[in-house]
Amino acid sequence: MTTSHEVKISILMDNRAGPGYRSEHGFAVWIEADKQKVLFDTGSSDALAENAARMGINLQSANQLVLSHGHYDHTGSVEQRLHQNPHMQVLMHPKAIEQRYSIHPGQAVKDVSMPLAARTALLAHPSSQRTTTEEPHQLWYWLGSSGAIPRTNPLEDTGGPFFMDTEGRVPDLIEDDLALWIKTPSGLVILTGCCHAGLINTVEQIKRVTGETSIYAIIGGLHLKNAQDDRIQATLNALKQWDPAYLIPCHCTGDRVMDELQQELGFCVKQGYAGMQLKINQQISTLN
Ligand SMILES: [Zn+2]
Ligand SMILES: [Zn+2]
Repeated sequence: MTTSHEVKISILMDNRAGPGYRSEHGFAVWIEADKQKVLFDTGSSDALAENAARMGINLQSANQLVLSHGHYDHTGSVEQRLHQNPHMQVLMHPKAIEQRYSIHPGQAVKDVSMPLAARTALLAHPSSQRTTTEEPHQLWYWLGSSGAIPRTNPLEDTGGPFFMDTEGRVPDLIEDDLALWIKTPSGLVILTGCCHAGLINTVEQIKRVTGETSIYAIIGGLHLKNAQDDRIQATLNALKQWDPAYLIPCHCTGDRVMDELQQELGFCVKQGYAGMQLKINQQISTLN
């Protein structure tokens, strides 16, 4: 069954912003359909609250928060959101709260974990309102999560020098990375956070979980900025095979890859930005 209702998707925070909107290295999306209001990620600061207000979105009306993974740029305002909205349900992978680092050679070790205040707020949130699972999870008949995504494609990696320790000995596979799916009459809409699991792995997992094969739109960060040519080519080939009507890369996709996607796939590719709103009914249309 697919949602018979209109689905509205609003990009609340992104590395790019429309006129009058704030940007940051972060990502957050608002999904609204069938009287449900879902916040997918929370940016790296509270700046998304300003963008939401500008779009006429009341963050306090959210009944569900989903965290794509535990990096700081997706969990930055978790504390504020839970404080504002103590009745909200939360869905996340158990490893989202783990301490983790990014270590670029010759640069200082960077803590990329969820902020401590966010972790504390999540752990203090009533357990009856928290779903912490590695498994795929269906929220409503029209929306659910991929669960942990099997890493079967040999070309896809997490996209960066991510480690569990400050010495760089234990790689962080970012097992907590998950994506959302929305069933629409036109096919699946897939929402990714950073897509550390890889786009091919993510889409294949969502096809398995939902039993659907038609991909209508892919929206979110694709984290291909450090990808080798063979991986980019494999991703392009897969996209051509899935043939989505819309691909809306955001956040950490990478400028070079963005150009390649536009050249290879043409008009279906639209760059995402904070302030972008999409309405999905029988067709998808951008509202601005
Ligand atoms: Zn990330
Ligand atoms: Zn990110």
